[in-house]
Order: sequence, then structure tokens, then C-alpha cells
Amino acid sequence: MGRGTAVITGASSGIGAATARRLAAEGYDVIAAARRVERLEQLAAGTPGIRPFALDVTSAESVAAFGAEFGEQDVAVLVNNAGGALGVDPVESADPADWQRMYETNVLGVLRVTQALLPALERGAGGHVLVTGSIAGHVVYEGGGGYTAAKHAASAVVQTLRLELNGRPVRVTEIAPGMVRTEEFSLVRLGGDKTAADRVYAGVAEPLTADDIADCVAFAATRPAHVNIDLLVVKPLAQAAPHKIDRR
Ligand code: NDP
Repeated sequence: MGRGTAVITGASSGIGAATARRLAAEGYDVIAAARRVERLEQLAAGTPGIRPFALDVTSAESVAAFGAEFGEQDVAVLVNNAGGALGVDPVESADPADWQRMYETNVLGVLRVTQALLPALERGAGGHVLVTGSIAGHVVYEGGGGYTAAKHAASAVVQTLRLELNGRPVRVTEIAPGMVRTEEFSLVRLGGDKTAADRVYAGVAEPLTADDIADCVAFAATRPAHVNIDLLVVKPLAQAAPHKIDRR
């Protein structure tokens, strides 16, 4: 039985790609969105039920085109997942341009895409907005100022939206993962330095995988319509806090 349409941003890699595969397997018609369409096409070629679409969440024009394409139909689920971190510099020396890009992607991206699709989410049987936040949205750590600020802001947006939509048929959920080993997250954060990216996970027995987070998204999305999972914080067993990690 079809479950309706699920839109996933940042679906060309990592958590978004895994979520696209998982929600397609759960019976959703998945629209997989990101900037790198060739990667989305590969994803769609390997999994029935996934349709690729080009989207840059930092561009008002791109989101408007996306909204024009999908805003008139029913959308059951929107997973605002596009995002990531840039740099590990202390506040003292961080580059404001990095902070600006993180805010654009992780916060304003959520705002733009949610605004574009809210009418579609409210139509039909009602909808569900999910945001891939982070434990960085709830706890701070040295060298993480720009990312933790952006993810704290994303969490504030989720909580505000839930208040504002009270009484309307749209659920609002934040999934807040700890350490997830994805192919690109740390590589992007560390400017493409593979050795430094590998060091992030060094000695950690089992970081979470993208599939673990896709599982959380699927769980929240497939609860009955009256059940709203507000916040799901999920970390690997080896990670008690962002800065408290069992490494052997
Ligand atoms: P990846 O770097 O593997 O994936 C990031 C995705 O975001 C890519 O598909 C990328 O696609 C997309 N993206 C980036 N910028 C834009 C943009 N402007 N418009 C549209 N899409 C964009 O990282 P993860 O899968 O690990 O991360 C996914 C989410 O999970 C992020 O929000 C991240 O902050 C969060 N997270 C990750 C954790 C981790 O440890 N990995 C922990 C906690 C949260 P493209 O470049 O093709 O546009």
C-alpha cells in the first residue's frame, strides 16, 4: 500500500540517501533532492520508487522552482536533511563566511523548503516535517561554535514550528544524531582532508551508520497520525557526549 510522497533534501549522500532508500522500501514515493543530480540519478537507478530532483536549499529561486513542481500535490513527509558543518575553528579565529554558509544551509534551508511545502503537507491526510538536527543542536563543544549555533537554531525552528502548527494536521520532529560515519560529512567539514576526516572516527568501535538514522526517520514517520515524536536523540554506544567518546 502506498504511503504517499516523501521529500528528502540532501539525498545525494549519507543520511539523506539512506533515508530515501528506506522510505522507498516503506512504500513512499520518494523525491530525492540535492544539488548533485548525477548522484541522485545513481540512487534512483538502484532503487525503485525514488525520483531525483535538483535543489539548492540556499537559493530562493531553486526552492521556488521546487515548490512550483511539488507544492500543488499532496506531500506526506518532508525530511529537511540537507546540511553539514564547515571547519573546527575556535570562535576566536573562525571564518564568518563558514558560519554564514552553515546558517544558510542548516537553518534558512529548513525555513525555505518548509515554507514552500507546508500547503502540500497540510493537504490530504496531513503531513509530517522532520529535520535532521544534531546533538550539536543541544550541547556545545570547543571548535564547534558555528555548527552548534546553526544546529541550535535549527532546533529552535523545529520547536517554534510545532507551537505555531498546533491544531493543524502536521507533525513536527527533530532527529538529533551523534556521531554518524558517513562518506562526506567530516570530509566536507575538514576541507577535503581525508586523513583528518578518518581521525574523527579513529578507534571508535561502531559509529552510527546512515542506515541507523534512516531507521529513526522511518520510525517517527510511520507512527499513527496522532503520535508526534518531538525529538529523537541517538548516539553510538561509544559516545556519551560530543566530547566523551570511548576510543581504543
Ligand atoms: P553528507 O555530507 O554525507 O550529506 C550532506 C547532504 O546535504 C548531501 O546530500 C548534500 O548534497 C546536501 N547538501 C549540502 N548543501 C546543500 C544545499 N545547499 N542544497 C541542497 N542540498 C545540500 O552528510 P550527512 O549525511 O552525514 O549529514 C546529513 C545531515 O545530518 C546534515 O544536516 C548534518 O548536519 C546532519 N548530521 C550529521 C552527523 C554526522 O555525524 N554525520 C551527525 C548529526 C547530524 P549536495 O552536495 O549534492 O547538494
